[in-house]
Amino acid sequence: MKSIKPKFNRVAIKVGSNVITQADGSLNSRRMLRIVEDVAILYKQGIEVILISSGAVAAGRSEMTPSKKTNIIEAKQIWAAIGQVKLMSNYQFLFGKYNIAAGQVLASKESFRDRRHYLNMKNCIAAMLENKVLPIVNENDTVSVNELMFTDNDELSGMISSMMDCNSLIILSNVDGIYTGIPGVEGSELIREVKDDKEDIDQFISDVRSGFGRGGMLTKSSIARKIAAQGIDVYIANGMRDAVITDIVRDKDIPYTHFIASHKKESGVKKWLAHSGTFARGAVTVNEGAKDALLGEKASSLLMVGITKVHGSFKKGDIVSILDEDNNRIGLGKSQYDSKKTEQHLGEKMKKPFIHYHFLVLDEKLKSAISAL
Ligand code: GLU
Repeated sequence: MKSIKPKFNRVAIKVGSNVITQADGSLNSRRMLRIVEDVAILYKQGIEVILISSGAVAAGRSEMTPSKKTNIIEAKQIWAAIGQVKLMSNYQFLFGKYNIAAGQVLASKESFRDRRHYLNMKNCIAAMLENKVLPIVNENDTVSVNELMFTDNDELSGMISSMMDCNSLIILSNVDGIYTGIPGVEGSELIREVKDDKEDIDQFISDVRSGFGRGGMLTKSSIARKIAAQGIDVYIANGMRDAVITDIVRDKDIPYTHFIASHKKESGVKKWLAHSGTFARGAVTVNEGAKDALLGEKASSLLMVGITKVHGSFKKGDIVSILDEDNNRIGLGKSQYDSKKTEQHLGEKMKKPFIHYHFLVLDEKLKSAISAL
């Protein structure tokens, strides 16, 4: 392979359920082998790969039918418990053929809420990469239910690639990319390139879902735009095509949709906060003066003196939304006081800021990163 572009130094690859399972949900070992072969080539070239693989629930479902008393949530938990083991043992066996050690990382949305958990997960994956162990990530479906779930593994793959500072994210599904209509229907064309997050392509996208995966093209496109806005190239491509991953890395002319990375780079803490939008525990209203300071040119912390109201109850260290006097959210950050103390000291000149600048993100500055969460 000719020299590898830096945008492929560290790559996250998301494999959808529909790519690696057959019509009955059982794992398609031949397809998995094709993907493993492709990843192994990159790996041997020194590219760091993080795999995010779905398929656990589908694989489990093909193994057993729960009793009538079992509700659908429990059924999915059981299927995931069975299927995740099958999925991982298949991967370990297949990567073993190439002498690559593969290890499992199970994530839940909660793991991204707490900064300590987040850093633990980040350190774990970094240590695996350093030791040439290939991380294979999936959602911990046995404990993630409903509102505590990722929307789908596309969202998880976005969060992982952002957390791990990947250069590119490749999302493999069973179509060639994003089309200007329903794929396969006359007149519907593949969108080859999306240049920046202002380009409105959602109007074109058909959200027809097929088979076993939770995610559709609309979520893929919104995740892709958000991640590209963080400076990561995103490719949506067809995982049923042999050598699709190496072809993308080699810049071969094959069909896919490429979301071109913007040049923006955010600090690690701010990226974590950008993904924490859905975890805000409470909110504070700030006065005009504080709003102007926060939105001004100079980086500012949010001081207690600028806060006029406290909403909800939160602990010190929780993520809190910042609202203006018209109730519009202007940002969020990690509070240094609990809600009780904040109530007690509203408007006072306290030494410690309510949210320190390093732990504060403004919606205006990270609009694309936060709004879709
Ligand atoms: N985590 C699920 C699984 O492995 C898949 C979620 C999705 O389809 O995005 O079965």
